[in-house]
Amino acid sequence: MSGLYIPIGGPDGSRTDHAENLLAPNPSLMTLDGTNTWVIGGEDVVVVDPGPDDESHLQRVRDHLGERHVTEILLTHGHLDHSGGAKRFAEMVGAPVRALDPRHRLGGEGLADGDVVTAGDVELHVYGTPGHSFDSLCFWLPQDGAMLTGDTVLGRGTTIIARDGGLADYLRSLDRLRAAAESLAARALLPGHGPVLPDPIGALDGYIAHRRERLDQIRAAREQGARTPREIVRVVYADVDRSLWAAAEISVAAQLDYLDRL
Ligand SMILES: [Zn+2]
Repeated sequence: MSGLYIPIGGPDGSRTDHAENLLAPNPSLMTLDGTNTWVIGGEDVVVVDPGPDDESHLQRVRDHLGERHVTEILLTHGHLDHSGGAKRFAEMVGAPVRALDPRHRLGGEGLADGDVVTAGDVELHVYGTPGHSFDSLCFWLPQDGAMLTGDTVLGRGTTIIARDGGLADYLRSLDRLRAAAESLAARALLPGHGPVLPDPIGALDGYIAHRRERLDQIRAAREQGARTPREIVRVVYADVDRSLWAAAEISVAAQLDYLDRL
């Protein structure tokens, strides 16, 4: 039986048997509590998303590892809140950086759908899940029944479709994760921001329903005369904090692009 530990008060220190979260100190409306750096394995570990270029965080992760050996650093995607510290952390621990996007790799091989990465006794199976960004990956940890989701699924709220992502891809990725969570009997989602989700299928169904609902709202707003992303955000995201409206505009642009291609 795999243990799932969710601390009260935030994601820092949350864990499953072979995955442990060290929260980076970069909280914001977009990054929630901050970026989750995941340490996977036992004596040999893989570090997923070193986080932003923040020396105190990188030192904390390294100190936390003690004598454990970092075999590889993996990136769920290239956005700076996940990848910014990768180069520095790679120097600190002497490990390569693997990512889908060649621009974010360092000394190592690539990383793509279907790859299996080993960390000592445990495996991470790579799922290509484009949408939030073109280069988003998820990592399935079969020993713990856990899926690391990066920014494809967050621990709270919903993710945005970034300029380098796309909604059609994102919807396909959510469906794929939903099917995987069911067939693999997943017990936890370990997100890139926010707390661990102990009900993968419930969380994914919620995400899929939310996307459909937003698309319906955007269709309705258009029928009522809203045209530009800004006009649509005012109507559809009226309940969302205004500081997120700029990001919401990017998401709306992605949704308009999707609707126009249907
Ligand atoms: Zn992020």
